[in-house]
Amino acid sequence: MISNSLNLEQRLSGMIQQHGPMPVSQYMNLCLLDPRHGYYPTRDPIGAGADFITAPEVSQIFGELIGIWLANGWQEMGKPKSVHLVEAGPGKGTMMSDILRTAGSIPAFSSAIQVHLLEASAALVAVQAETLGGFAQPLHWADSLNETGSGPLLLVANEYLDCLPVRQFVTNGKHWFERYVGLDPTGALQFVLGQIPLSDPDIALIPPALRKLPDHNLVEIRPGLTSLVDQLAQRAKSNPVLALFIDYGPARSEAGDSLQAISAHQKVNPLQRPGEVDITARVDFEQFALDATAAGLLVTPPVSQRSWLQKMGLLERAASLSSQHTDNRAKIARQVHRLTDPDEMGELFRIICVYSPDLPVPAGFDV
Ligand code: SAH
Repeated sequence: MISNSLNLEQRLSGMIQQHGPMPVSQYMNLCLLDPRHGYYPTRDPIGAGADFITAPEVSQIFGELIGIWLANGWQEMGKPKSVHLVEAGPGKGTMMSDILRTAGSIPAFSSAIQVHLLEASAALVAVQAETLGGFAQPLHWADSLNETGSGPLLLVANEYLDCLPVRQFVTNGKHWFERYVGLDPTGALQFVLGQIPLSDPDIALIPPALRKLPDHNLVEIRPGLTSLVDQLAQRAKSNPVLALFIDYGPARSEAGDSLQAISAHQKVNPLQRPGEVDITARVDFEQFALDATAAGLLVTPPVSQRSWLQKMGLLERAASLSSQHTDNRAKIARQVHRLTDPDEMGELFRIICVYSPDLPVPAGFDV
């Protein structure tokens, strides 16, 4: 009875008092996904007036170009009669809507598509059902890729990997220790270090390039991404797989604490107002590629969003839209700038594709 009236911060304090400090990954998971108080399950945070804006919300062209890319991938797979089109973390469903509209101009592709949405937030499932309800394809929601059935697979995910919880490890130059969220003497949340050095299996998770760092360095490990790569590799053993990920993070593994909280488009303290602010951490594209290769998949270099969109025909599509809607010319130019300018999303965001060994190099990644 009493616990129902507590907010997430009070519940976290209670858990820490009872069981001791929790790993950063558990803290991130509860803040983002706790069904009662988590950030995503309790709100729709995406849009100009909300907490943050994403590429598909900036311009319809983003999802349209991904739709063309997917149609091309389906053709390379030999135009299977049925293909699973999975989106992980679909937000408002805007990108899937732009993809399905674009696919509509290729009827054989459009009718092959089985849509699956991997979404942990009940609030966003409702928004997606509303956005996508008018399309001919039936919609399926799933908690994980493994639930989407067997068969050829196309997967897309924009700003999904950055939400997957990270574990943080800190070195004293000799040993590694896990970073936890505990309580300070006043009862406020604070970061603390574990007392016992990491086990060898945990040390093996650290990117090889970062294992021998000097004192005080921090590295981040993302177990959910490793498990997603394993699931893709399993699928690729019996069916073609083509998976596109767009996210922010460096091309090479880097040390450093990248935990970042955003509220109303501003950076805030990740330990304050838990469950009310978005928490993400950058994606380590080098480690992602190493894991994918080790699992037997092919992987493209992580190219900049700017380069990929331009290769896929962003400027041509923008010119065509501008000539159809001359009143929107300035707006479309602003959107293109936002998606591609190096000071905006153009170089911060990277695009990587993981795919079955029997498929050719996917469009937009040729050098
Ligand atoms: N791709 C969308 C939304 C990005 S926000 C866009 O570009 O606008 C992150 C999305 O991932 C949200 O839909 C969120 O609810 C979902 N999400 C976060 N963690 C998840 C998890 N572990 N499993 C499934 N969905 C998750």
